[in-house]
Amino acid sequence: VVRVDGVSKRFDTKSGTVQALEGIRQSIGAGEFVAIVGPSGCGKSTLLRILCGLEEPTEGRIDWGREGQAPRMGVAFQDHRLLPWLSIEQNIMLPRLMQGRASAADIDRALALCKLVGLTGFEKRRPAELSGGMKQRASVARALFTDPELLLLDEPFGALDALTREQITADTERIWTEQGFAALLITHSISEAVHLADRVIVMSARPGRVVAEFKIDLPRPRTEALGSPEFGKL
Ligand code: ATP
Ligand code: MG
Repeated sequence: VVRVDGVSKRFDTKSGTVQALEGIRQSIGAGEFVAIVGPSGCGKSTLLRILCGLEEPTEGRIDWGREGQAPRMGVAFQDHRLLPWLSIEQNIMLPRLMQGRASAADIDRALALCKLVGLTGFEKRRPAELSGGMKQRASVARALFTDPELLLLDEPFGALDALTREQITADTERIWTEQGFAALLITHSISEAVHLADRVIVMSARPGRVVAEFKIDLPRPRTEALGSPEFGKL
């Protein structure tokens, strides 16, 4: 769905120049699940921000394989970025609300997404009334609202306790299998990367480069046991 073609990114600040990314060449195929791991500061978030258009590369380009048509992308961040004054349902429909009024079909879709991520019964609640894991589920539901070809996840589960994280990892694999989008997951957890991804990209810092790449050729589902009491016994 996307090709990253020789992308470099330099930040020039008062305290000096940072080469955040250097010569990144990668492709993500339709329906592929790719994970990126690497130390803090190696440019993972910068790459994600370039992919979703929040940042311009210094060199290189992002090629979506077709002209003039905006790519369908969904993004979920570590700090969930839900708007506190809106209900969960409204937060999920936010991409539509920003364009005007939501239709009955939009509301149906938001409710269906609540169900998909396990938030049925919480549609009318405000983010502050939800646990951390539930807020992350809501932010993933919002990222899925526009039916993305590519779902971008920047450490979305990093702040969660281990058990919640395992449950969400298992749910993420199930949803990805059912829905068929391509996904790019940034994570500090090697185990999460190996459980979820078809391919793991390893980056190093200063400058941010890809230093290794692994295909994970294991049968799916891989996460069934995660989050269940049985997992502790493995
Ligand atoms: P983490 O795992 O801690 O989230 P990361 O791999 O996501 O790290 P980035 O946030 O992409 O790292 O940052 C890569 C480098 O670019 C860092 O050295 C960072 O300080 C620098 N950087 C990122 N954004 C900016 C900016 N807007 N201005 C200046 N420097 C920046
Ligand atoms: Mg980051």
